Amino acid sequence: MSYNIAVDGPAGAGKSTIARAVAKRMNLIYVDTGAMYRALALYVIRCGVDPADTKKVIETCGGADITIRYEGGEQVVVLNGENVNGFLRTEEVGGMASSISPIPQVRAKLVELQRRLAAGSDCIMDGRDIGTCVLPGAQTKIYLTADSLVRAKRRYAELCARGEECDLEQIRADIEKRDYMDMHRETSPLRQAEDAVLVDTSDMTPEEVIERIVRICGQGA
Ligand code: C5P
Repeated sequence: MSYNIAVDGPAGAGKSTIARAVAKRMNLIYVDTGAMYRALALYVIRCGVDPADTKKVIETCGGADITIRYEGGEQVVVLNGENVNGFLRTEEVGGMASSISPIPQVRAKLVELQRRLAAGSDCIMDGRDIGTCVLPGAQTKIYLTADSLVRAKRRYAELCARGEECDLEQIRADIEKRDYMDMHRETSPLRQAEDAVLVDTSDMTPEEVIERIVRICGQGA
């Protein structure tokens, strides 16, 4: 049986940075499920589909073949044969991912891929519903969160570093809107699994969070 760590939490809590580092430390594969939702969202944007038209979104997603491969330890998302990693981390794609992720058919398609990856390799997987829905039997579950202003500041710094123009208040509003949608959808809403350990990263450095998680996993104590 493979060893799985589930990491869930709201946007900007540091899930991907932390999970990537823990994967390296513990020699696990890092599975970023948000990137899969983002790849489907990118496809929907490229097809010019209105996310409010659920029927059309479902029909459109049928034409998106998403697979994952690893290059130098990094997850590469392949959409219909194209490596789309470079297109996924924009606010537009993130917003569209949140808009289409409540659709059960969209989730079913990606959850199947996620479970297959977890069954085949020791991994740390991050997302919104990993501990509650995708991998309820994961050996370790973490719920990573932080104050919304702290999360907005982190995203702001990330975007500025990439030379993108951005506004802190706008980012905070977007993050809070995304959290609300993720927590209040009917199918697999974002919530802490009963057996997940809560880690609030508001006043922690990334190194402290990594240490804490490795310790929770029973290594490096
Ligand atoms: O984590 P990231 O910001 O890349 O995720 C983008 C969006 O994808 C989230 O806001 C959420 O709506 C959706 N998502 C999800 N379930 C997951 C991962 C992401 O619904 N496991």
